[in-house]
Amino acid sequence: MNADRKTGLLKLEAFLPYAGTSYAQGRNFVPGVVSGLSPFLRHRLITEAEVVAAVLREHSEKEAEKFIQEICWRTYWKGWLEMRPKIWSEYLQELGILRTRMEEDHDLHDRVQNTESGATGIDCLDAWVKELHQTGYLHNHVRMWFASIWVHTLRLPWQLGADFFMRHLLDGDPASNTLSWRWVCGLQTQGKVYLATAENIERFTNGRYAPHGLLAQEAPPMRESFIAHPPVPLARPDHHLAGEKTVLLISEEDLLPEDWGIPQRDVTAIVLLNIAEAYPGIRTLPAAWKRKALEETAARLTGAFQCPVLSLAGGTESIASRLHVLLRDHAAQSLSMMTPPVGPTCNLLDPALSELANEGVALKRLRRPWDDAFWPHATHGFFRLKERIPSVLRQLSLNS
Ligand SMILES: Cc1cc2nc3c(=O)[nH]c(=O)nc-3n(C[C@H](O)[C@H](O)[C@H](O)COP(=O)(O)OP(=O)(O)OC[C@H]3O[C@@H](n4cnc5c(N)ncnc54)[C@H](O)[C@@H]3O)c2cc1C
Repeated sequence: MNADRKTGLLKLEAFLPYAGTSYAQGRNFVPGVVSGLSPFLRHRLITEAEVVAAVLREHSEKEAEKFIQEICWRTYWKGWLEMRPKIWSEYLQELGILRTRMEEDHDLHDRVQNTESGATGIDCLDAWVKELHQTGYLHNHVRMWFASIWVHTLRLPWQLGADFFMRHLLDGDPASNTLSWRWVCGLQTQGKVYLATAENIERFTNGRYAPHGLLAQEAPPMRESFIAHPPVPLARPDHHLAGEKTVLLISEEDLLPEDWGIPQRDVTAIVLLNIAEAYPGIRTLPAAWKRKALEETAARLTGAFQCPVLSLAGGTESIASRLHVLLRDHAAQSLSMMTPPVGPTCNLLDPALSELANEGVALKRLRRPWDDAFWPHATHGFFRLKERIPSVLRQLSLNS
């Protein structure tokens, strides 16, 4: 699949007729009526706002309710994690501990290896592993079943399963992935565990798989050392001042700066941060997809902005010093970027940005109106955000 905006838009166009009742009725079946837009949304080659606007041109809000809600699940997870960055750092920490443990715990090592190579003997799981390796994609219902079997049947640590997904999915996302795995374990909604059943798999795969007698029958909710994660307030975003000369810093988190509200005449240069392998161990398929997406974006932006488009790779130190030089060489008053959300890009970029700020560089940390409007509602469960969807869409002028 091509990793460019044009392909994302064509995919959206092709899906539009199905985004109403067909999606609501067919989305849970495998294969079912789903859009396949996730890698494009993940890297913001297309945006949630433009997808919803396009859908609402073809369907009433009522008809498209389910699809819009699913788009908003992504927004909810992003906002929720943004206000609980500790969950991400703890996940990375626990993952590190488990990787070290696997060096000595041969049983754990072999069981993980067995599962990751599709040799568990549970035919549906083994087939989904193969599919993930081959395509970098799994249907949402499959991801739920997969995570449930990994955690509750095979009794493997969820962090290793989340990591397996992150290394292989084209849409691998720190928020949607980590928090969905936690949700399956019962860590997200306290006491509510997701347990896959053979009946459910049989029904929604139209009989293709029926792992009767192979799956765990119960799943005690997991405990965490800390029960609640009180939200930390969201940082206030900056705004571009018309006339201010700026360099745009682009990362894989948002590849659509044409839509940042910064006029072309104010942009003196664009820097694409090439950190395709920022998540350790990322596999060939997603790494290649990310690289291609960056290349295609560079080509697109050269035409759109008519200014130098440069590529920047490397570690934190060189990023800070090289950005400093670039700002000087391109006579920029500021460095503008979409604030990298909690995740590997943020981990890598934040120290460099702090260094630049300490040196007096004016940083403009922007946020999209979509995130700005929705994220403050991601303080509790999804229901609270879901209730706000119609009013937020009105606020964003996306519905009538
Ligand atoms: C264990 C597990 C891990 C997951 N990991 C990721 C991940 O790393 N990256 C990721 O983008 N999604 C993840 N999801 C959510 C969901 O499975 C995918 O977004 C969806 O399958 C993508 O396929 P689609 O584009 O055809 O979805 P569609 O059904 O067509 O939905 C349209 C868009 O809405 C969003 N969306 C839909 N369902 C969800 C959902 N349940 N949660 C969050 N967003 C949703 C996606 O951006 C998707 O592209 C995970 C779900 C589970 C259960």
